[in-house]
Amino acid sequence: MTHPEGTGVTVLGLGAMGSALATTLLDAGHAVTVWNRTPSRAADLSARGAEAASTIDAAVAAQPLIVACLLDHASVHEALDPVIAGMRGSALVNLTTTTPNEARELASWAAEHGVSYLDGAIMATPPMIGTSEASILYSGSPEVFDAVRPVLDRWATSTYDGENSGLASLFDLAMLSGMYTMFAGFLHGAAMAGSAGMSATDFAARATPFLSAMTAGFALDAAVIDGGDYTVPGQQSLEFSDLGHLVRASEEQGVHPAPIAAVQELISKQIADGHGAEGFARLYESLRADRTERTDQVETLR
Ligand code: NDP
Repeated sequence: MTHPEGTGVTVLGLGAMGSALATTLLDAGHAVTVWNRTPSRAADLSARGAEAASTIDAAVAAQPLIVACLLDHASVHEALDPVIAGMRGSALVNLTTTTPNEARELASWAAEHGVSYLDGAIMATPPMIGTSEASILYSGSPEVFDAVRPVLDRWATSTYDGENSGLASLFDLAMLSGMYTMFAGFLHGAAMAGSAGMSATDFAARATPFLSAMTAGFALDAAVIDGGDYTVPGQQSLEFSDLGHLVRASEEQGVHPAPIAAVQELISKQIADGHGAEGFARLYESLRADRTERTDQVETLR
């Protein structure tokens, strides 16, 4: 189906995120067909001009570009297995959160049925979609990315990370891993301050500027890691960074030390292995995958 404003799009899944994606496209003037397992969720979008398909068969046949924003990997198969054979020649952009291996499995499954596949990882909340704060990572078919880029750019800043379909998911989950670990650290700090009666709100007001300033250290650690020399002068040594006192203080205050104890465990391991004089970035060596086993991904990244 053609439309004055560009590519017609089918959006499968009208949860909080799928609805935001469809709304943004409607507002930009695209022809939008929507489908949701629970049909009532399509009512608002129909009122805004979307075509609500009564079956998923009709939905995937309606437009050349199919966007899936369902719950998880299993739900993509559950919804699309019955109709994938009839989708030959169409393009599927899957914005459902999956693991990298699940994304690669979906790419192979789509290819077996003659469907071009682009995986996407949304770095935004639904209200951010269509604003300059939103970012979406993509990997998979470069042809699909190039062809539908004007649609993708309606939602967010689009970044293409390569043909390996799992990479968008990998980089998304890598950033979320950093974020959740940082938030757990904040909550642990709030619990420590809270043991003396400070409100979490007051602690957040003190912690936010401090932690924001500390993120400048990411680039310094990254340079050490990429340089491969953890003895570079100017770093704080692991022996100096030993956090045993922090774990003890937490326990003395009756606060569960789990987040900081996990960091201390990594430090202790590196010190026990003889790296106590090296910098904090050395912890990376306890965490990283064996690069010799990851050549497929490393090559894609070059
Ligand atoms: P919601 O829980 O709001 O919606 C889930 C959607 O998946 C609903 O449309 C639901 O249909 C559908 N669904 C679930 N299981 C099935 C199934 N077996 N078959 C068909 N449809 C199914 O989630 P969101 O919209 O918030 O998230 C959607 C995706 O976007 C997720 O993968 C999420 O990780 C990702 N995402 C979400 C973000 C957010 O902030 N919300 C941020 C970044 C990524 P029904 O209405 O019938 O239940």
